[in-house]
Amino acid sequence: GEITHYVSISHDVTKRIGREQKLLKIAHSDPLTGLYNRRACEQALEQNINTAHDSGNPFSLIICDIDHFKSINDRYGHPVGDHVLKSVADILLHRIRVSDIAARWGGEEFLVLVPNGSLKQAVELAERIRNGVAETSMVTISLGVAELFAGENAESLIQRADKALYRAKRGGRNRIERAQKVTRLFESEAAADSSGM
Ligand code: GH3
Ligand code: MG
Ligand code: MG
Repeated sequence: GEITHYVSISHDVTKRIGREQKLLKIAHSDPLTGLYNRRACEQALEQNINTAHDSGNPFSLIICDIDHFKSINDRYGHPVGDHVLKSVADILLHRIRVSDIAARWGGEEFLVLVPNGSLKQAVELAERIRNGVAETSMVTISLGVAELFAGENAESLIQRADKALYRAKRGGRNRIERAQKVTRLFESEAAADSSGM
């Protein structure tokens, strides 16, 4: 009788853990694409930045935005727009390494976290993603890539990647831009950086 009793308890626990993992997954993922949602991405970003600062290993980030996405919705309707979002998310998932994290950051904006990735490696990954979308999807994407520098926080890193993305858009879209290197964080320099884009 002992063994039967043991098995029954073990089964219950498995079920409960399975349920908790499911709930956790729902709380952390974007319902449309299944990628990390913004909140989970923010948490992962903080953790990765801390780890990078502690270890001294590189950490990079890619921000992607679908080009002229509004016209897809306008021309084909919102459901087709949603379908395109899912297909772009699938391409992201298939191109990143297992240690990378892909997230839906906003409506048609995605972030890829690249732990232990240098700027060069992240740019190579960004190029594979850009090319994958351009080849297999009805849309193209523009990307900004930034590598974390010593002492930098999440806000600054995202801001630099975002500025690079903006340059990619202005430069004609369906392209990648690297964020400018920043060695010292002074207000005056940050201002000069934004005006000189
Ligand atoms: P750009 O190349 O400059 O990025 O142009 P854009 O048209 O992509 O940029 P804009 O920010 O003007 O438009 C983004 C559009 O994304 C507007 C909004 O309707 C659409 N969008 C945001 N979230 C969703 C969504 O969940 N589903 C669908 N179908 N569309 C969405
Ligand atoms: Mg956008
Ligand atoms: Mg867009």
